[in-house]
Amino acid sequence: MNTKINGSLIEISLEGPISEKTSLFDINLQTYKEIKLNLSKVTFINSIGVKNWILWTLRVPKNAKLYLEECPFVIVNQVNIVHGFVPQGAAITSFLAPYLCDSCSHEQIVKLSQNVHYIYASDQSQASIKLPEDLKCAKCGGTMEPDFIVEKTFSFLKKS
Ligand SMILES: [Zn+2]
Repeated sequence: MNTKINGSLIEISLEGPISEKTSLFDINLQTYKEIKLNLSKVTFINSIGVKNWILWTLRVPKNAKLYLEECPFVIVNQVNIVHGFVPQGAAITSFLAPYLCDSCSHEQIVKLSQNVHYIYASDQSQASIKLPEDLKCAKCGGTMEPDFIVEKTFSFLKKS
């Protein structure tokens, strides 16, 4: 785990599995107004990890903003399955989505970003999704298609 502190901003990068051994859960957050958590190197999360994660989110100060950056797809699935995985007011700023070539079955991970590819629902407007168009396969030049159920994956955009 790497942490970088800049005044009231803390940036944390997690690596490997999220489990009972994850040191993220020991950090005192009380002095921070902005918490940026990069999850790009997280490999999986076990059930104790999910439980500890939720207890950890409850300790995020109410006046702090929590951002989840570069979430692996396994985390996005947890977000959609486990109620309360992402606390209210927190945002997934980007996540890593699996794509598949429709000609040669080559797999590619595509980073989808908030306000580029998706927008959260708000009091004023509904959630919206705008996936990248014309993604070309690096191997054969074919068309890359989402290897996930779009509507289900983006259910985290809805206002809870
Ligand atoms: Zn291909």
